[in-house]
Amino acid sequence: MRYTADYTQDLGDLTVRVGFRGRALADMARLDIRIPPGFAVSDVVCRRFLETGDIPDEAWEEISGALTATADAFAKAGMTRPLIFSVRSSPQAPMPGVLNSALYLGATGEVLAGLAGTDGVDLADVVRLGFLKSLGRLRGVSPARLRALVSDIVGPVPRESWTRPQIVAIADSYESLIADESQRPIPGDLLGQMREGIEAVFASWDGAEARRFRRRREIDDDEGMGIVIHPMIFGEGSEGSGAGTLFSRDPRTGDPTASGLYSSGVSRPGVGFDDPCLAPVAKDDPVYGGLGDVARLLEAEWSDMVRVDFVRERGENWIIAARPSERTAQAAVRVAVDLVDEGTLTVEDALLSIDLELLSGMLHPRLASVAPHPPLIRGGASSPGAASGPVVFRAADAIASAASGAPAILVLREVLPGDLDGVAMAAGIVTSHGGGTSHAAVAVRAAGTPAVTGVGELVPEIPAVRFGERDIRAGEWITIDGSTGLVYEGHLAIAQPPAGLYLDRLLEWADQARRLGVWANADTAMSAAAARAAGADGIGLARTEYMFQGERLEVVRHILLSEGGRDRAEALEELENLQIGDFEGLLAAMDGTPVVVRLLDPPVHEFLPSRVDIELELADRRAAGEPIDDLEVLEAAVEQWSEVNPMLGLRGVRLAVVIPEIYRVQVLAALEAVRRRLDAGGDPQLQLMIPLVGSMEELQLVRDMIEEEVHSAGRLLEIAIGTMIELPRAALMAGELALASDFFSFGTNDLTQTTMGLSRDDAEAAFLNAYVEQGLMAANPFQQIDPVGVGSLMKQAIAAGREANPGLEIGVCGEHGGDPVSIEYFHQWGVDYVSCSPPRLPIARLAAAQAALRDRAGPPGYR
Ligand code: PEP
Ligand code: MG
Repeated sequence: MRYTADYTQDLGDLTVRVGFRGRALADMARLDIRIPPGFAVSDVVCRRFLETGDIPDEAWEEISGALTATADAFAKAGMTRPLIFSVRSSPQAPMPGVLNSALYLGATGEVLAGLAGTDGVDLADVVRLGFLKSLGRLRGVSPARLRALVSDIVGPVPRESWTRPQIVAIADSYESLIADESQRPIPGDLLGQMREGIEAVFASWDGAEARRFRRRREIDDDEGMGIVIHPMIFGEGSEGSGAGTLFSRDPRTGDPTASGLYSSGVSRPGVGFDDPCLAPVAKDDPVYGGLGDVARLLEAEWSDMVRVDFVRERGENWIIAARPSERTAQAAVRVAVDLVDEGTLTVEDALLSIDLELLSGMLHPRLASVAPHPPLIRGGASSPGAASGPVVFRAADAIASAASGAPAILVLREVLPGDLDGVAMAAGIVTSHGGGTSHAAVAVRAAGTPAVTGVGELVPEIPAVRFGERDIRAGEWITIDGSTGLVYEGHLAIAQPPAGLYLDRLLEWADQARRLGVWANADTAMSAAAARAAGADGIGLARTEYMFQGERLEVVRHILLSEGGRDRAEALEELENLQIGDFEGLLAAMDGTPVVVRLLDPPVHEFLPSRVDIELELADRRAAGEPIDDLEVLEAAVEQWSEVNPMLGLRGVRLAVVIPEIYRVQVLAALEAVRRRLDAGGDPQLQLMIPLVGSMEELQLVRDMIEEEVHSAGRLLEIAIGTMIELPRAALMAGELALASDFFSFGTNDLTQTTMGLSRDDAEAAFLNAYVEQGLMAANPFQQIDPVGVGSLMKQAIAAGREANPGLEIGVCGEHGGDPVSIEYFHQWGVDYVSCSPPRLPIARLAAAQAALRDRAGPPGYR
């Protein structure tokens, strides 16, 4: 077995084993790019070391031989000075910042003597201190102790002004500190230092940071890593020496001008891709001489934007590393499109290159500063985007605040239908209760308003909201980040998303590539029009209960609260008239595409005033001597309808059993809207959907009623009738339900709630986040579909449904319909379309395309 490979030669059977850094160096050598000679060590050696605590003898012999060969090659390249080596990690894909390097190895007495007095700066001092610092870190000596020791010897004097005796004193003390603390002598020869360096780099694979990183990226702990070993180039010299990084394009914006950062007198390029100091590189800048060509060669080789790290020793550049560059989401989109236009990248690879999690952060306003001051508190990240504004506690105040030009942050216990007008006008929402798929959060997300949920405690008597120790009163400013769930005190600057020219091109390509339909959840003509403009293929869920916001709420309350008779009949008539207009608007906005109208599904408590509000008002009226009869009636009704567990209570199809008139009126209104659209020459494609069905009897009850009304409409109307699958029983009975359904739509919010026994309103704040943090769950199942439990119910229902009714159309309209990971599962499970809130449409379209492309490409390889 071969354990090492000279990366300037063909890597052969070790190509896969040596990791990304070894492969990049080999590619550069093949392209005649100037790199230091050196070799790579196979990940097999790392795994053996991690298992046994030792490097196998045969591998060690190869490493010793390769060191000698490297020294010869370095001399042949014209470098006659003594050699100092570095050992760098080379996992399969970069794991920035979590693995160790061992530097300045070979700092023996003889080598130090050879380096003494060279190049204006005493390189022997640089190397000795560099070696000790690197060794101290590898042996776990605290950097604070080193700093204390330095300050004991030289006080606040900066490094450039240290005298030789001071440097010697610092190095001597540091040497004793390392040996004392680690109870081990410091090796004095190259092979001893090399062995310790290699072992420490391998051992960092098992470090806590590295483990966490791998868990986040789903990298196997047993994979291990290669390493690369080569002579160090000294950028610490005085003249024409330094280190820098060149990006082939601007990694912050994707602008196709090379940008970079160079510092003289250092030997480690250490710039981040989002560093504000990065600047465009002039073509004739001598420091970057020849690097533009290198970047172009590598872009063509790797079909990607690249970063090139180089060290300059006495006016000569050596490339020590290069790789496809990190970049912001904005840059990723532009680079992908430009590379396709330049003929370097295929459309498929451009689509697959986009990290959708990163991209979703770019599509919304975000905090301008990456490290703002510490947050007050963290809640649920329920609707992405950042917002800043004065706090208000009532929807009406949010509307007034927006009208006066200062949109507010509306803080509520939870969002009820009566608040939705305010939600649309507020800059952001904070709720003290409710999770990310509570009806509140769903409604807020549909409106595109940033929101943090399940955080803070309302103190109505002040009024204020308490975040930890701090009370924020009405009018005080806070800033929220709905992408992270963080709440900050005061006003923080917000950066707006960049214009989407490049994204539009990508989305057009995505639409060609995807199999899944991407529909939108929208309840009004306005949001349907916005969804259509954002590329929705249809409306997969119009929640009719959300059509009753603000003043219209009274109509629903009347229907629910009256005992029957005139009052209810009048309210029902009003409902019918209002809904005709609503449906007509929706069908017009989506003319020629499907619109799924869901019959009313209100957890009844969301439509009634809270008992606390009634009591407060009662107290006020009593104090003012005003009549209270109406309030007493309301209080009694609220009492009668109150449920301990409303999410499992009188909702959905159950209403058809208790108050059948409601659904009948909605159906009549929908049919009238279709008729009017047809008369206007339109192409209405109405589908009626029944929520919370758990049995064939329920489905048949409502289907019969709808068919009766369609029949008596006296005109041939083609209306698809379908059911939501959002209860485990419905999923288990799918074969039967499909016989009476033209379509299924999975309500994955309720299906997750009821399959897993987790309350969508409370579980996230109460304990779910702890489950995720402690690794008991891979992800929050309300955000990312649980593929094992909920997934098996879905797969079973899809198979049984299609077997019974091959023409059955199958969608997903829960919040998972906008989540990229879930979308990939839905694609694999044979769903026909997903439906998501309009702001998530771009991500869903791209995710559907990626799922289709990955499906065609098969499992990913190493490159
Ligand atoms: C669902 O449960 O997934 C769904 C779409 O319905 P709602 O969120 O309105 O309960
Ligand atoms: Mg539901």
